[in-house]
Amino acid sequence: MSQLDNPLAIYKLLPKSNCKLCGLATCLAFAAAVIKGDKRLDECLHLESNIIEELNRNIVRQPTPEEQLMQILEPLKREFASIDFAASVKRLGATLSGDKLTIKILGKDFTVDSEGNIISDCHIIVWVMVPLLNYIIYSVGNELSGKWVPFRELSKETVWGSYFEHKFEKPLKQLTDTHPDLIEDMICIFGGKQVENSFSSDISLVLHPLPKVPMLICYTKPEEDLESKLNVFFDSSAEDNLNIDSLYRLCVGLLMMFQKITSRHIRS
Ligand code: SF4
Repeated sequence: MSQLDNPLAIYKLLPKSNCKLCGLATCLAFAAAVIKGDKRLDECLHLESNIIEELNRNIVRQPTPEEQLMQILEPLKREFASIDFAASVKRLGATLSGDKLTIKILGKDFTVDSEGNIISDCHIIVWVMVPLLNYIIYSVGNELSGKWVPFRELSKETVWGSYFEHKFEKPLKQLTDTHPDLIEDMICIFGGKQVENSFSSDISLVLHPLPKVPMLICYTKPEEDLESKLNVFFDSSAEDNLNIDSLYRLCVGLLMMFQKITSRHIRS
C-alpha cells in the first residue's frame, strides 16, 4: 500500500456511508481529521482491526500548527548570532538588561538572550515565541503613523484576511459577548488603555502586543435584535515592524491567552 498522506487517500478506504457514528458529519471530514491527528482510525466503527493496523502503518500525519511553528523556531534562533542588541533597543522599543533584551508584550516583560531563548513570568507559547523572534530580527522600527487600518488592508494576500477574521476577530467577539469582563481584564491585566470611542463603537481600547505594533479593539455591545460588533485595527505601519503571518500568529496566541483568563474566571 502506498503512503496515505492526504484526506482523499484515506477517504477512498472508508465505508463512505456518512453514518456519523465517529462523531463527524461525513467520512471525508473524518479522513481530514485522521490526517491532522484529531481522530484515530479505530473511531470509525466499521473498519476491521486488521485493516486499521495496515492503514496505520501507512498514514503520514500532517504536523499540527504548533509542530510547524516549532520547526520555524530553531532557524530563527540561529539568526540571533548576528543581531547587535545594544543597537536594536530604539528600533524595537525594548530595554537592555546586561546582554539581554526585554520587550513588553501586552505590558508583560519577555526577556530574550543572544541565542533567542525567551524568559518570562508569563506562560510562553509558540504562537507568541515565533512572532517575538521575528519582530526582533526583522522589525524595521518605523515610527507609528497614527492611522488605524483593518488587518485586510495590511496585506494584498486575501487568505490572511480570511484567517484573521475566522481565527481571531470572530472568536474574540464571541468571547467578549460571553465574558464582558474580558474588556476590563484587557485594561487591568494586559495594560490596555481605553481611548476615545472610534469607528462608532461603544468601547475602544488600545493594546500593545508588541511595542511598535499597537492594536485598536472596537466593541459595540449587543442591543435588542442587534448583534454585537467587534473590529480590530492596526497602525498602518504594522507590516514594517512585523510580517503579516507573524502578526496573524501573534493574534491567535493572544486569543489563547484571553481564553485562558476567561476560563479561570469560570472556575473561580
Ligand atoms: S463512522 Fe466511519 S463510516 Fe461512519 S461517518 Fe465516520 S468515517 Fe464514515
